[in-house]
Amino acid sequence: LKTILLTEPYRMSLQELPEPQLNAEYNVLVKVHATGICGSDIYAYRGEHRKRKPPVVLGHEIAGEVVAVASGVSEIKVGDRVAIEPQLVCGTCDECKTRHYNLCLNKKLLGAPDWTGGFGEYVAVPEKICFKLAANLAMDHAALAEPLAVGVHAVRSLGAITPDMKILIVGGGPIGLLTALAAHASGIENIAVADIKTFNIEAALGLGLSFGVQVTDSPLPQTLTATTGWKNVDAVFVAAGGKAGIGGALACAKARGKVVILAHYEGLVPVDLMDTQARELDIFGSKMYTSSDFQQAVDMLNNARIPCDDLITHRVGMVELPDKMQWLNGNPEGVIKAVLQL
Ligand SMILES: [Zn+2]
Ligand SMILES: [Zn+2]
Repeated sequence: LKTILLTEPYRMSLQELPEPQLNAEYNVLVKVHATGICGSDIYAYRGEHRKRKPPVVLGHEIAGEVVAVASGVSEIKVGDRVAIEPQLVCGTCDECKTRHYNLCLNKKLLGAPDWTGGFGEYVAVPEKICFKLAANLAMDHAALAEPLAVGVHAVRSLGAITPDMKILIVGGGPIGLLTALAAHASGIENIAVADIKTFNIEAALGLGLSFGVQVTDSPLPQTLTATTGWKNVDAVFVAAGGKAGIGGALACAKARGKVVILAHYEGLVPVDLMDTQARELDIFGSKMYTSSDFQQAVDMLNNARIPCDDLITHRVGMVELPDKMQWLNGNPEGVIKAVLQL
């Protein structure tokens, strides 16, 4: 099993590991064809991820082909092309029992030290986290199922969607753009994406989203209105972790509007809670997804509702991955999604 192993922070190399063995729980062997490189893989590369600590084979945005199944596997067959929901939850905690298993505290993550990820040739996974792909869906596109499921979960957290709804996505990276596309595929037409980087604004417009809001030194609500003509929005999705921008993001929400936090933060974030009280803002978090979100994401991809080619800006081979990780860690302009192809 050829892998790219993160041996210590900032150090990755091609290494041969023993092939993963199937058993009663990990009962499907998948030959990896494409693995998306996630922001969390970059944190892990720096040694900053809480769970993905070296030595580790990273990679959790995986699409591939089933090459073996253990006895007892019924739905999935050898030859199936699948995307993988990369979490395994305990099933017994309160969160699991109330079907919010995305919040399970005992979960195992694919691409962590105890579960070899998709920066390698094969992964062993349980059948129940394999989702079948349409025959004409490309593997690199299918690798977007995982980050798209994050967006689907966030959009579903709004509850009922109305056609006149206006939303703002703060952060035009992969999660922000895929959340915007999930919203669009769910029936929301008025979507603005705000970012500092011009490249990401142009990417949003290229995806057919209504507006790209170039973040400047001016207060965000002013820029939003100047760009869109909207006074405010029904919901704001915060998909970028800049602490300074949070006040502006909240101020763009209408009274009784929703603010969905997708971003990761380190340390405290200054928020004017008086504004939250005075305008009855509804601020809440959105974390990962459950299988119904993942299925919706795969359905959107299978039905060609997501313009994947415009999101994948870089395709990387296995041998060049260590260098590319170093490059990506520098947060270069012009990258939306990089995908490892095997
Ligand atoms: Zn990810
Ligand atoms: Zn649990």
